[in-house]
Order: sequence, then structure tokens, then C-alpha cells
Amino acid sequence: MADFETQVVVIAGGPAGLSAAVQAAEDGAEVILLEKNAAVGGAANMGMGPLAIGSKYQQRQMIDITVEKALNMFMEYTHYNVNGRLVKRYFEQSAETIEWLEDMGVEFEGAYKYFTKSEATWHIVKTDQGIGPRAASFMNKALYARAQELGVTFMLETAGKKILQDEDGKVCGVVAMDKDGKEITIACKAAILACGGGGANPEFIKEQTGYTFGVDMFNFAIPGNVGDGIRMAWEAGGHKVPVRIEAAANFEGIDELPQSVPNVLMQPNLLVDKHGKRVMDEEQMQNTTYLSNACSHAKGRVLYSIVDTSIVKYYMRNGVDEISMVRFDPDVSDFTEGVRIAEETGNKGLFKADSLEELAEKCGIDVDNLLETVDNYNDYCDGYDEEFFKRKKYLRPLTKAPYYAAAVRPGGYGTVGGIDINENCEVLNNDLDPIPGLYAAGADACNIYDDSYMFLLPGNSMGFAVNTGRIAGMQAVEYMDEED
Ligand SMILES: Cc1cc2nc3c(=O)[nH]c(=O)nc-3n(C[C@H](O)[C@H](O)[C@H](O)COP(=O)(O)OP(=O)(O)OC[C@H]3O[C@@H](n4cnc5c(N)ncnc54)[C@H](O)[C@@H]3O)c2cc1C
Repeated sequence: MADFETQVVVIAGGPAGLSAAVQAAEDGAEVILLEKNAAVGGAANMGMGPLAIGSKYQQRQMIDITVEKALNMFMEYTHYNVNGRLVKRYFEQSAETIEWLEDMGVEFEGAYKYFTKSEATWHIVKTDQGIGPRAASFMNKALYARAQELGVTFMLETAGKKILQDEDGKVCGVVAMDKDGKEITIACKAAILACGGGGANPEFIKEQTGYTFGVDMFNFAIPGNVGDGIRMAWEAGGHKVPVRIEAAANFEGIDELPQSVPNVLMQPNLLVDKHGKRVMDEEQMQNTTYLSNACSHAKGRVLYSIVDTSIVKYYMRNGVDEISMVRFDPDVSDFTEGVRIAEETGNKGLFKADSLEELAEKCGIDVDNLLETVDNYNDYCDGYDEEFFKRKKYLRPLTKAPYYAAAVRPGGYGTVGGIDINENCEVLNNDLDPIPGLYAAGADACNIYDDSYMFLLPGNSMGFAVNTGRIAGMQAVEYMDEED
């Protein structure tokens, strides 16, 4: 005998779960949402906004992006290793989702790029504090309020543990652990998994991706995101697909310093590995997924971004080469103060030296190779980058001490993927047929990037979360109606 009974149980209250609950309730279902933490919003509370394709903001801003263009970009980027029907449905719904969110009070600043070479698909949520991290928490608040208005029952500090299935394999309930540690059973007709992946679970990361958390992987670890949704789907017979890191390079330690320091060291200047050799056209560093991937393949999984005093002074006079929406204030005026603080506090990420030899020694870079690399690089600055063809505007020689370096390592926002779903967000079994009544959305089921997060269309993972949440919600109600 179940402790509670409802029609749809949504497991977790990040943007995917909240969107699923709102959509299912709007479509007439009785919904219970279980959230492990004391508050809803998940990782998205730290983010800025979702992707949309063909939104009214893009029309007004004359941004030329269509579902056709985005889908083709995506499929070529992933070598057709992902479910094109799912990507297409997500993109097709994404513009209307912006209006769906606006109808519940969410406001948007507009559509933005993340970096120069990306498309303007990132719909940054408007806040009372301007553009910046945590903007999307305003979206989550609106989703939460709308869900409550629609009568969704929230059980906070309650973790979903297991999916119950009848003798035909159909979902018939969910087992959870309430805030007093008591096991409860909720009878239901459909369940939606949206537990945000396993970014806070070092064993899970090691097992699924090979990275060692805190050693060669420095991802955001959102408490509670330990892979529960993926485990529940797999235990219910779900087909296993690879879990990946949603990669974003980690500039070790320097984010604790005044913003001038990361603002300077994250510019596309000389980047070398422990051998003292370049590994890429540094302009591509702006795509933080590419940079993280490059770090993953380097000796010791670390690269060093190096500038000299002339470059710092140039930025102080003229501003930096590249700004990012995440670091909206490109100020570098207190760089010297930042370096002083780094020295005083023994910051481990920033290196300062009076010669390149000393810098190499401090970073553990091969000295002779570094000297040769800098020599060649300085020549390229006068002419042409024969090695990686970096554009002239980013070629600045390193000639004047002191020199500064920052260590860059693999990092990420969390994990993506693990649960195989189709375009209806139905969880698939090993025969790739739907498990009746079981749905998944958001990071748990985000298998659409193949091996590397698709930053060329930014806002992608939150966009996927909100849109697949909605799809799962509407499909769960349709399934229930058909069953009745
Ligand atoms: C710093 C940062 C900035 C980001 N910025 C952006 C951005 O601007 N745009 C973008 O597209 N993406 C961004 N992302 C990624 C984006 O936030 C995630 O892709 C998105 O939040 C995934 O949504 P989700 O609902 O699947 O999971 P989450 O938002 O992670 O939510 C998962 C929820 O599940 C709960 N949970 C876990 N296990 C259980 C369980 N067993 N039972 C009940 N509840 C459970 C957790 O407590 C959590 O509330 C950012 C991520 C980070 C870390």
C-alpha cells in the first residue's frame, strides 16, 4: 500500500524537473515533485540562461539563426552520433519556450553569444542586478511559483531512490527517502527523471569518464547531483549511453583573485604544455570546451597561459582583446594589486617570474623548449603564425619581465548523458524501445553533444533541460491519457 498516490512523479527540481512539472500540470495532470535539496533550481541557479533558436529576440536583433542551420551545425559537429530527431524537436520548441517562460514572468535581456565565434543563441535572463552569474535563478523562481499556482505538490529534502514497475514493466510507483530518513512509496502512472547527472560524485566521474575529481578534473559539484537519476534509469532496464563531462577549462585558483587577473590570463596569448610547446591556435581558447579538451590531452593534463608585462600594460591602456558574457566587466586596472594579493596569499594558480627561465622552473615547464617556443612566437608576431595560424590581432610578443603564467586544467559544469531517450523523452530499454511510463530530461539524458559540449550554440544545456522537461511533461500526460 503506497503512502501517496498521484499521476506523475517528477524526480528533482532543477530546470528540467520544474519545467516537466509545470508542463504536466498545465496539461491537466496531478503532479508530485521530489527534490533532494531544501531548495529548487539545481545547477541552473548558478547559470545565466537557456538557448533558443528563432526567438523573437533573435528576429529583433537581426540574428540569422534557424532550426535548419542549427540542426545542420549540430549534426556535423557530432558526426551524426546523436539522435537528430531529439535535437530537432528541442530546437523547434525552443523559441516558443522563451514565450512560455515569459508568460510566467521571466524576462530576458536578449540573445547573446558566449564568445566571438559562437552564435547568439544564449537567452540571458533579466535580473534586478544586471547581466551576470546566477541570472537563471530568476527563471527557476518563476517556474517554482507557476508550479505551485498549478497545484504541484513539492516534497523538498526528499530523494527519489527507485522506480517501481509492474509485471509488464510499466512504471507504477517511485520509492523515495523523506527528510526524516523514512522510506516512502508514491504510486503513479508515469515518472520523470531529472536529477542533473553525477558531477558531485567523484567515484561516478572516475568510473564513467576516467577523470579523477580534484586531480585532473575540476568541475562544479552541485550537492545532490550524484548520478541518482541515471542509476534509477539503468536499474529500471534503461539502455546505458556514455556519461560525459560538460567540459569547461579551469584556470586554477585565479578566480579567487581580483577579476583583472583572470581577465588578463584568459586572453588568447601564448599557451604551452609542460614540454614548453604550443598545442593550439590560442584564439580557440575562447571556446572553453575546446580548451578543456586540449588540457586533457596535455602532459600532466595541464597547460600554461603566459603573458609579459608589455601585454598587461597594453590591456591596461586599450582593454582586453576578448570579453565574455560570464566576465562582463573586462576591467584590468587592478592587475598589479591582484598579483600582490596572489603573492601574499600564496595563490597556487598564478606564477610570476623575472625571466622566462625562472617562469619555466616555477611551472615545471621544459626550459629550453620554452625559450625556443617564445623566440619563434615572437617572430610570428612580426609576421605570420607558421605553427598554428593564429590571427595577427591576437599575436603579442613576450619580451618584458616580469612574466606571468596561469595553470589551466580540465574542468566542467557537471556531467551530461547516461540515459538514452528518444524525441519524446521516453527512456529506452536495451532494445531501444520505450520503457512504458518512464521519462528523462535535462543533464541525465543529455546525449546530444557526442564527446564535447556544443558551445558554438551557447545556452545549450539549460535549453535542453527546460525543453526536454517540457517534452517529458507533455508526453507523460499523453501516455497516461492513452492508458486510461
Ligand atoms: C556555474 C554554472 C553555470 C551554468 N550556466 C549555464 C548557462 O548559462 N546556460 C546553460 O545552458 N547551462 C548552464 N549551466 C549548465 C546548466 O545549469 C545545467 O545543464 C542544468 O542546470 C541542468 O538542468 P537539470 O535540471 O538537468 O539539472 P540540475 O539543474 O543540476 O538540477 C538537478 C536537481 O536534481 C536534484 N536531485 C539530484 N538527485 C536527486 C534525487 N535522487 N531525488 C530528488 N532530487 C534530486 C538536485 O538537488 C538538483 O536540484 C551552468 C552550470 C553551472 C554549474
